[in-house]
Amino acid sequence: MNDNLIYKTMDKHIIIIGSGLGGLVCGYILAKNGYRITILEKNAQSGGCLQNFTRNGIKFDTGMHYIGSIEEGQTLHQFFKYLSLFSDVKLRSLDKMAYDTISIDGMQYPCANGRKNFVDQLSQYFPQERANLQHYYNIIADITKNLPLHSLNVTEMPVEFERNYFQTSASEFIESITDNHLLRNVLVGNLALYRGVYGKTPLYIHALIRDFYNKSAYRIIGGSDAIAKSLVKSIRAMGGEVRMLTPVDKINCNDTQAVSVTLQNKEEIHGDYFITNIHPVRMLEMLKKTPLIRKVYRERIINMQNTISNFTVYIKFKKDTVPYLNTNKFYHNNDNVWNCENYTYANWHKSFLYMHACSSADSLFADAAVVIAYMRFEEVERWKNTSRGSRGNDYEEFKQCKAERLLNELEKQNHGILKNIDAYYTSSPLTYLDYTGTERGSMYGILHDCNNLSFSTVSHRTKIPNLYQTGQNINLHGILGVMIGTLITTGEFLGIDNVVKQIVKA
Ligand SMILES: Cc1cc2nc3c(=O)[nH]c(=O)nc-3n(C[C@H](O)[C@H](O)[C@H](O)COP(=O)(O)OP(=O)(O)OC[C@H]3O[C@@H](n4cnc5c(N)ncnc54)[C@H](O)[C@@H]3O)c2cc1C
Repeated sequence: MNDNLIYKTMDKHIIIIGSGLGGLVCGYILAKNGYRITILEKNAQSGGCLQNFTRNGIKFDTGMHYIGSIEEGQTLHQFFKYLSLFSDVKLRSLDKMAYDTISIDGMQYPCANGRKNFVDQLSQYFPQERANLQHYYNIIADITKNLPLHSLNVTEMPVEFERNYFQTSASEFIESITDNHLLRNVLVGNLALYRGVYGKTPLYIHALIRDFYNKSAYRIIGGSDAIAKSLVKSIRAMGGEVRMLTPVDKINCNDTQAVSVTLQNKEEIHGDYFITNIHPVRMLEMLKKTPLIRKVYRERIINMQNTISNFTVYIKFKKDTVPYLNTNKFYHNNDNVWNCENYTYANWHKSFLYMHACSSADSLFADAAVVIAYMRFEEVERWKNTSRGSRGNDYEEFKQCKAERLLNELEKQNHGILKNIDAYYTSSPLTYLDYTGTERGSMYGILHDCNNLSFSTVSHRTKIPNLYQTGQNINLHGILGVMIGTLITTGEFLGIDNVVKQIVKA
């Protein structure tokens, strides 16, 4: 065991702020290793982005629609085994020949699972590009293989690796693969999954997400809240405490470290160690008074750029009218797929993601779907001081107008769909700000920039020695990115090698 490691003893109390995926997985790992855990969640429901809501008898996911690398031998599968998730979380495979479909100006390009299928499927549309597609696939697979934690293999990362894949932009890489403009657009057609920004998003992020779904892609039957519920159940069974409706207001420090948290209702809870599973800016708000956080650190975090937010339309279909769609459709009716976040009023509705919800293992019809489009926070900024449910008629009109533009565009691409819609509901960047506390409703937290990695990356360590962070801002967003991040955070207590070994052995 490394002497520098704070190898805390079992009687220590660890307080985790937030029951998002990162908080719950840290709680699970630490409780399983004998620590006393208290998770404090501000909402009535656990899970953060894993939350769902029900309207008119239909359940809607808010922030996790499909997962990858979940088949035997793949990384997320190993995490699921370790976290005992398979008994509570049931999955339905997406079409292996087209888990994602990139729709550009009415033409459909399938993304298939596995090297051969991926290359064969796209080569049908780009026969001259077969060798380039193979080369693309090989590099993507290689990057994931060489990232030690993502392959659950704790060896050193190759020295050249960081320079090549962390400091190169995904856009530069794609441009080096092919001169074919359309194929370039197709290869980044799912960039909504990481809110990719031209010239900034590092290649490794594109690679990890592509490879994650290339390996296998599944929807969660009945909704992703099953993951949160299962983790809460297991943590409680191991003696941990998970408390809902307990918004943390302050983290209190003495001269050297954090000592307690104060809830909004003024209850004070003491702990030995603290982990925040919230956006770093929210954490700083809880630490307003302490001199342990210097101005320079505070300003760096506050000034970091975040990924753009989204506007979502949740659709309830009339019963048995819309056949279940076993692929996720990324629509782009713009010449440049990369430019989504710079949308104008006129072209905003031209790029969006359309996905069906999965309510059973074999349903032939969909009962619900989501349409997700980009949205900058500025569009809703004028309502930021209003509260949920009472933002006013102008906000409702704004949302209705946006929803109708998206639905009309959906109708253009799927003739006849409008008449099968029974009802729809919407969410805006303000919804995410309210429900998860993410800065300006940002979808995936801090935006990583390959030109300035150290200034666009947040460490799991803070300036306070017994306060750590976890969640999508630490390593990467998404189910696997967040789970890998928990290895780094819980590694402070247990040693990363030790945690990885436990997961590999599960
Ligand atoms: C629209 C959308 C779609 C997505 N789709 C997918 C997908 O298909 N597949 C995939 O893998 N990933 C997807 N993601 C990403 C994924 O859902 C997230 O990266 C991940 O769930 C974030 O987890 P987290 O641990 O960072 O916590 P978060 O989900 O951010 O949760 C933070 C928690 O902290 C709580 N909290 C905040 N403030 C306080 C406080 N003061 N006191 C107590 N608690 C507090 C919040 O209520 C919340 O529960 C999607 C995200 C979004 C937004």
